[in-house]
Amino acid sequence: MLALMGGAPAYFSVFAAAADAQDGWRWCRKCQGLWFAGNSTAGACASGGGHEETGSASYRLSYNAPGFRGQHGWLWCSKCQGLWFSGNRERTYGLCPAGGAHSRIGSGDYAITAGSGQRNWRWCRKCQGVWFAGNQTEGICPAGGVHSAVGSGDYALNIADAPIIGDNDLLGIWSAQARTKGGLGAQFTFVRGGEVVATFGALVDFKYEINGNRLITTSDEPGKAEQSTEVFAIEGNTLQLTIAIPQGPSVTRALTRVGDPYPDVHPIIGAWRGPYPPTRGEAITRYSRSGSGQLSVPFQTQTGSYRGGTAPRIDFGASAGSVVTLRRDGDLLITRNVEGKEGTFRRFEY
Ligand SMILES: [Zn+2]
Ligand SMILES: [Zn+2]
Ligand SMILES: [Zn+2]
Repeated sequence: MLALMGGAPAYFSVFAAAADAQDGWRWCRKCQGLWFAGNSTAGACASGGGHEETGSASYRLSYNAPGFRGQHGWLWCSKCQGLWFSGNRERTYGLCPAGGAHSRIGSGDYAITAGSGQRNWRWCRKCQGVWFAGNQTEGICPAGGVHSAVGSGDYALNIADAPIIGDNDLLGIWSAQARTKGGLGAQFTFVRGGEVVATFGALVDFKYEINGNRLITTSDEPGKAEQSTEVFAIEGNTLQLTIAIPQGPSVTRALTRVGDPYPDVHPIIGAWRGPYPPTRGEAITRYSRSGSGQLSVPFQTQTGSYRGGTAPRIDFGASAGSVVTLRRDGDLLITRNVEGKEGTFRRFEY
């Protein structure tokens, strides 16, 4: 019924290629600098502690886009989370509020312009950072004193349109549209109260029909429209499925309902848990009102927290780089990891 190939890669690796812009950069009201708030650290601020994002828009920077017409050579510093300019004449790495010079390790290529957007951003020749000069203060420079605008152009930064996502827009089960050849994919389950469970494993989409006491299932896998017919019976929270094998003993498996039944619909609609012999694991089978279904066999599970609002994200908390930012695109949920890789997820509607 389902071929399981190879091991399960970390689910982030199935996300599609990097895009050419990155949202989630923030202005820090303490130092006036620009820093990346998409990681699970607030970095290091020249005024002490981490940077702050309170009061800041989400800025969008050109990212790994060689064709972008702007000043390239701006880098993210993994030590302070700040943006700094590596293309300076002195070939210095500047001064980092975390101590020593900024780091270029792990950064992509950022580009900014003097074009349209929010103007008044300046390069500081003392620390090599960029800072907002449109306030009454020149902030705090890690090189000592305040930032300098001497020799800088007038940079303009674009503000990302950050749509607000309510928690209700996230609740439920979201499946990656991208699958491996073996039919493996990532899934997120958002539950009320801020917990999210990420799984990676086998995902099989199918269509089903009910004809009397027969359940006819057709796989959605491209090129493999396999059909199977089982006799079903539902008693309480148990779903019994029996495959009749011609000239042989029939095989029955019993599934147990997950959660409460939906009122006023066929009792098969909902989620059912049961053994999955090919992996000796457990599968969850879902049946929707619309005749579509899904079989999910999780191999890897990771639990994190999520939040909606203007900067919706998942935080797995275990290590830096474990944050996934979220946005909606119509019916789809778009995830973006710290490397800028995006994934597209569709919600299972019962
Ligand atoms: Zn700061
Ligand atoms: Zn730094
Ligand atoms: Zn400075």
